[in-house]
Amino acid sequence: MPLLVLDRKPEYKVISSSCLHSLKDLGEGVFGKVHLSTYSSSQDPEAGKFLVAVKILKFCGEESAKDFDREASLLTQLTHKNIVQFHGACVDEKPWKMVFEYMENGDLNQFLRVRGPDAHLLEAHGGPMDPPQKLSLLILLQMARDISQGMEYLASMHYVHRDLATRNCLVGKNLVVKIGDFGMSRDIYSSDYYRVGGHTLLPVRWMPPESVMYRKFTSESDVWSFGVVLWEIFSFGKQPWYGYSNQEVIQLVTGGQVLPCPLATPPDAYQLMLNCWQTQPNQRSTMKAVNERLVELCSPCVKNSTLYLNVIE
Ligand code: ADP
Repeated sequence: MPLLVLDRKPEYKVISSSCLHSLKDLGEGVFGKVHLSTYSSSQDPEAGKFLVAVKILKFCGEESAKDFDREASLLTQLTHKNIVQFHGACVDEKPWKMVFEYMENGDLNQFLRVRGPDAHLLEAHGGPMDPPQKLSLLILLQMARDISQGMEYLASMHYVHRDLATRNCLVGKNLVVKIGDFGMSRDIYSSDYYRVGGHTLLPVRWMPPESVMYRKFTSESDVWSFGVVLWEIFSFGKQPWYGYSNQEVIQLVTGGQVLPCPLATPPDAYQLMLNCWQTQPNQRSTMKAVNERLVELCSPCVKNSTLYLNVIE
């Protein structure tokens, strides 16, 4: 008997808890733990067993039930190669769970940090291991292109993300990057958010002036955030405006300042960032135009991509 009582048939696939077998913890967000699990479908044994990421929800009150239902229904509508696939939800026992495609290389921010030029400054996790392979300029551009493809799709679905950042993107097999988090509030990266009033946490470092000043979030504000994601990629996961307080960032951004060009970034890539950071929302590039440019820059015929490869490697 399902514990999540709805007055209609759920608009998402319902997965039975008995199909999931937890293997280990992957991380934790505001809404709860994320586990790596195996999934074997009871209805479709032919499909075999595969790995999934299971989000276990901490809150199971009345209001969260509605949010859960809304989010699961929405996630079901999103299918794209650069959006982490939602497989379904488990509501036959508490805590409720959401089942997602497993992205074996974790979140993009961490992924970049441990491969950046300042990686030696970070604490080593899990004892001695070989330093991860450095990322070429072409790989960085391909990662940016993957995100722009996912964002172009979201914009075409009239979906405004509001919280695009490398911490919300995940890296899978063959370094494919997918947009993986659609919730607004997070705490594992709490310093990336600015608390305004009571509970609202805002990712001000990723926000354009109109979102900072009027809380206006649109596809154009997502384009601005994409520019900041490009900056994060070329900075190997540094925090945008590091060294400045959130209040100072608000002043800088509303005063028309933009982030400086990260070291060894090709001028074409910085130009793309500047196109995303036009003060007037209607002067910014569209996600489609940004994506087209990134596809061009990743193409083997563009001399620039190879020209700069050695600078970063
Ligand atoms: P929340 O949305 O509740 O804040 P997150 O989505 O941030 O939770 O997940 C927390 C962490 O779990 C991420 O930083 C990432 O390391 C890991 N994680 C989340 N989803 C996946 C996934 N699909 N595949 C692999 N790891 C994941």
